[in-house]
Amino acid sequence: MDTQTNIKDNLPHYGHESFRDALTTVDDSGKRIWVFARKFKGKWFNRRKWVGYILLLFLVSAPFIHMNGHQMLQFDFVHRKFVLFGSVFWPADFYLFVIAVIAFIIAIFLFTSILGRLWCGWACPQTIFMELIFRRIEYLIEGDASAQRRLDKMEWNNEKVRKRGFKYLAFFVVSFLISNLFLAYIVGSHELFGIATESPSKHIGGLSSIFIFSGIFFFVYTYMREQICTIVCPYGRLQSVLIDSKTLIVGYDYKRGEPRGKWARKRDESHGDCVDCDQCVDVCPTGIDIRNGLQMECIHCTACIDACNSVMSKIGKEPDLIGYKSLDGIETGEKFRLNTRRKLYIALISVLLTILIILIINRSDVQADILRTPGMDFDMKSKDTIQNLYNVKLLNKTFKNMAIELRLENTPGHITTIGGKEINAPGEDYGEGIISVEIPKNGLQKADNPILIGVYSNGKQLQTVKTTFMAPEK
Ligand code: SF4
Ligand code: SF4
Repeated sequence: MDTQTNIKDNLPHYGHESFRDALTTVDDSGKRIWVFARKFKGKWFNRRKWVGYILLLFLVSAPFIHMNGHQMLQFDFVHRKFVLFGSVFWPADFYLFVIAVIAFIIAIFLFTSILGRLWCGWACPQTIFMELIFRRIEYLIEGDASAQRRLDKMEWNNEKVRKRGFKYLAFFVVSFLISNLFLAYIVGSHELFGIATESPSKHIGGLSSIFIFSGIFFFVYTYMREQICTIVCPYGRLQSVLIDSKTLIVGYDYKRGEPRGKWARKRDESHGDCVDCDQCVDVCPTGIDIRNGLQMECIHCTACIDACNSVMSKIGKEPDLIGYKSLDGIETGEKFRLNTRRKLYIALISVLLTILIILIINRSDVQADILRTPGMDFDMKSKDTIQNLYNVKLLNKTFKNMAIELRLENTPGHITTIGGKEINAPGEDYGEGIISVEIPKNGLQKADNPILIGVYSNGKQLQTVKTTFMAPEK
């Protein structure tokens, strides 16, 4: 891999649309061009950094915080259960999952059409890990972009072996920690603690997963880097259909900036504000020139805004030659405003989220299935009473054991448990039993009568199940 081709040599000139035909990080022969992004600081980076640190803190602590005796967040695919803020969700709650996924997809679509790739630049774990952890380690060990480029060009000598060795070791340690964190979300922090402290022979599967994921993360942050955002991530590919001329994007104000020209004390007034210093290109982690216009590779990381603002402040010009703008805003000079369509989008996102929250709050603690016992017809218990048998299956979604009581809700009669014992539903487990339902004959109108059975625990109604009661034809 030739990592020394300068990314700027591969950038098209202003006015050429050829940048839409190829990736700037790949040369004509198909070889990867390495991005050595320059270190920068500024108002937007500080904001993004704090948002990133808060999200990182949440991500790192969530598997170790417990609510209702359970991990705050857990995605246990193996046992098909998710724990969200202390509440367990089972396959029986699949409808909620489907609604959540639909709401999430619609919300992402609408959100992107309003605020562009805000997610990519500010909240995506790939960006946060890459920019706030791995790239910071790289700067610390190898120095800024020019030092990195020099090191890369160097023959393998003591300095290169030492610096690269330290960097890869540090990258592997962080990848290993991320892998452990990732596993804590799946198997749970208690299980992870077991893997870390007990004999490796007891946890061959868990340990193998940790090392496989460590290797994947190491590969992603050492080699793939910005290619994940520009090639792999499907969300990035969707931008062209989600963003329009009214979307808020990180954009270059070409009306103000062009025609660009190098800075000089006696500068020709016909020049725009862009002094063609390439600082915005030097800091870009995906190696693009934002002055060419909106590009799919742009992850809206705001680095070019900070870089350009520091240049503007040095030459005494207004900031935000590059900034958060809409394409229409750049064209007309108008500030970004929410139009009616976008207000409707926001209302739709709010409605979807409200429906989801209501469904989650009203989710029953118990999922009961009551079905007539297969192969059994009705039975004349006495001359005036008819009996039907039912199989009862209960899923207790809470952590506490529950003694379940069943009551007929819409018709006189009574329910008894076959075997005399009450039905118990252990916490986070299934309980089952067979019940006999007896209903006076004169209360039944036809051969198949709809009945409602209330499911109670400690006198509190948890659910009502509709089923059918068979009786002789009248
Ligand atoms: S163009 Fe600017 S906002 Fe987009 S990825 Fe590059 S530096 Fe970040
Ligand atoms: S940093 Fe600003 S002034 Fe410099 S090239 Fe980029 S847009 Fe032009």
